[in-house]
Amino acid sequence: MGSADYIKYYNKMTPKQLKEVVKQDTEEMGYEEGHSYSGTWASKNSGINFLNGVYPGEDEAEKYILDNNDKWDCVDAALVKYKAGTEAQNTRISKEQDKLTELNEALRQREKNWFVKIDSSKSKTKGCSCGKRILTSEINSFSCSCGKSYVSATDTKAFDTAKTKISKQSDKISTLINKRGGKIIEKWVVGGWCSC
Ligand SMILES: [Zn+2]
Repeated sequence: MGSADYIKYYNKMTPKQLKEVVKQDTEEMGYEEGHSYSGTWASKNSGINFLNGVYPGEDEAEKYILDNNDKWDCVDAALVKYKAGTEAQNTRISKEQDKLTELNEALRQREKNWFVKIDSSKSKTKGCSCGKRILTSEINSFSCSCGKSYVSATDTKAFDTAKTKISKQSDKISTLINKRGGKIIEKWVVGGWCSC
């Protein structure tokens, strides 16, 4: 017996209207997929838990719901509100997001290369000041089990530089998103974990 996430988006409506629509959708799910362990809202307690506050985006609302909802609870509903952004603003944001993806990929590649380098080094084992010695082929973490890092100062600096670039790029994107203008979008994000 497991659980599956089930999230749906609804356009702007009053909480009362949403209650009614969710009730209808849940009945339909129960009719089509059955109730217990169906992986749908029909397997959950009935009703809606309206979350406090307004969420700045679908992703934030979805993350909050999935981090906090339990399969024994009823569904959660989060109100999302943001400005859609002008075409120029959104083009800029998506370009900056591509850059962020590239930076993340570069870091992952750098990390992968580090493991390859360790594994292909002449010495077949690596020691730590705690006394532990491990086969280089078995190293699958950047630090010893005692917590001390295996990474050289030079490599640590390179990793840190890459991480700083990623964090700066994320901040830049957040700023651009917050500055968006244009039409106001309002939505409901509804759902949670369901028994299956
Ligand atoms: Zn150690």
